[in-house]
Amino acid sequence: MTFEDFNFHPDIIGGIKTMGFEKPTPVQELAIPLILQGKDLIACAQTGTGKTAAFVLPILNKLALLPVKLNYINTLVIVPTRELALQIDQQVEGFAYFSPASSIAVYGGNDSGNWDRQRAAIESGVDFLIATPGRLIQHIQMGYVSLDRVEHFILDEADRMLDMGFYEDIMSIVEKLPKKRQTLLFSATMPDNIRKLSKVILNNPEEISLSISKPADNILQAAYFVEDQQKLSLLTSLVEGKSNVQSALVFASTKSEVRDIEKKLIKDKASARAIHSDLEQQAREEVMRDFKNRKFQILVATDIISRGIDIEDIDLVVNYDVPRDPEDYVHRIGRTARAQSDGVALTFINKKQRRSFEKIEQFLGTKIYKIPTPKDL
Ligand code: ADP
Ligand code: MG
Repeated sequence: MTFEDFNFHPDIIGGIKTMGFEKPTPVQELAIPLILQGKDLIACAQTGTGKTAAFVLPILNKLALLPVKLNYINTLVIVPTRELALQIDQQVEGFAYFSPASSIAVYGGNDSGNWDRQRAAIESGVDFLIATPGRLIQHIQMGYVSLDRVEHFILDEADRMLDMGFYEDIMSIVEKLPKKRQTLLFSATMPDNIRKLSKVILNNPEEISLSISKPADNILQAAYFVEDQQKLSLLTSLVEGKSNVQSALVFASTKSEVRDIEKKLIKDKASARAIHSDLEQQAREEVMRDFKNRKFQILVATDIISRGIDIEDIDLVVNYDVPRDPEDYVHRIGRTARAQSDGVALTFINKKQRRSFEKIEQFLGTKIYKIPTPKDL
């Protein structure tokens, strides 16, 4: 199957070429025709499988077919984090390169320029509004948001949003939407609370479910049994001076540990930065941008960025500790081997976490190879 098979408007085909996409991913193959037909949809596929383009392309196509440019909010996308909002906004802009569709990311932060820009776009009626729930509600409370002509409502990373406690916020946004609309729900997992939510806000949805929560085959996974005090030297031995590791992402469970690892790495003269939810929004964006542009080698992060954030060409993911649950593991290691490339994911297991790691292996239905710990650590 190719993108030509969807009979997209030439402007959309042009946008796809600009983005360098050659053929649709499985979730795109399945979702795009259903969305073009106007169906409600609940789609479950692991991170990195191309869910963004699966909803952005058919909607942009509908907009491209309209004879006139709209002056109201046509498509509302709700996402858990500002990083994801920005990332989807960028994809919309890329795909809409040859078409007049407009979009804006609406997310929190103290920058008043941002607020004014968001307000202006909302008031003039942007085609694609991509928002985090809290910030959108702030704008709604100011009285100038009109969502009564929204035709497409998308919940992206719905599982993550419920984990972050956004259920009430989502429902209060849904109240402002017209009853007659197309609703699409994307999620990496399908726990019960997502099923319940989908019953309330979707209308007779089609369902797509693709190999739930199993890591992609092109990720080489291995692990080390280590003592906590060996972890740092093991990490540096894995990345320092390695020409095949240009970008490494290191996950730890807590903010304080992330900060601590960053400090130690820098002290060790490694090229490293940290990202976690205590950083100001601008600082976070800058770190992400610099990492994408390969200005430094090692990004140390909490789980908050393990979902939805899309950085290509990460050669190595290191779990500095064993993630809380198997799904977090899958999300963390899914940051490498995005789309077609290969990647490596290594996990450090201390004595206390052996049981948790066994649970992950059970979930994956396979044993992960344990690399003998280097003697000179
Ligand atoms: P998900 O939302 O499922 O986690 P994304 O939509 O963020 O996945 O896509 C993951 C990565 O794959 C992105 O870098 C995206 O640009 C790329 N991608 C998506 N679809 C295609 C495609 N058909 N061809 C090539 N790359 C793609
Ligand atoms: Mg996504």
